[in-house]
Amino acid sequence: MLYSPVQVVIDPGHGGSDVGAQYNGRYEKDDNLEIALLVCENLRDMGIEACLTRDDDKFVELKDRCALANRRNAELFVSLHRNSAEGANGVEIWVSSDSPEADTALAENILTALDAVGISENRGVKSGYARGEGNYYVNSQTDMPSCLVELGFINSETDNALFDENMQAYAEAIAKAIEETLLICKNVFYNRT
Ligand code: ZN
Repeated sequence: MLYSPVQVVIDPGHGGSDVGAQYNGRYEKDDNLEIALLVCENLRDMGIEACLTRDDDKFVELKDRCALANRRNAELFVSLHRNSAEGANGVEIWVSSDSPEADTALAENILTALDAVGISENRGVKSGYARGEGNYYVNSQTDMPSCLVELGFINSETDNALFDENMQAYAEAIAKAIEETLLICKNVFYNRT
């Protein structure tokens, strides 16, 4: 079977039996899917070919998420998650530990755009993995520039209120940052026009 190329793969973290982080009956997997669907819709409205690693509440292996993006020769991969930790709030974005230029530009563009909409704290672009050595699987196993967005803490009432109020604005901001990065990648990183 042949697969047509896509420009962007949006990856709503977790799904199905893997609920991700949870707080008072709220599941990370649901927040991730809801905003991912909106980001994808915004990208398509902007004329950018985008697809999702899941478009409903099902479990998808990490390797299958990466394989989809690699097989379809995506130009960018953006994984959407929500964070969880005691007493923390704000948005942070993770790139692979060697901080590739294009990946970092993608993450910085997204974080700047979200910050402009309004977030409780800008925790910065970080490289590597929050819980030790290495990388997030989706950052290390995708062939294209990628990042993993932690859209606030699910155990923070402040972040949840911001997420719920600004979901559409966040989705638009992420889509615009992706569009901007696609242009930069074409013009600078790969010298393609
Ligand atoms: Zn997650």
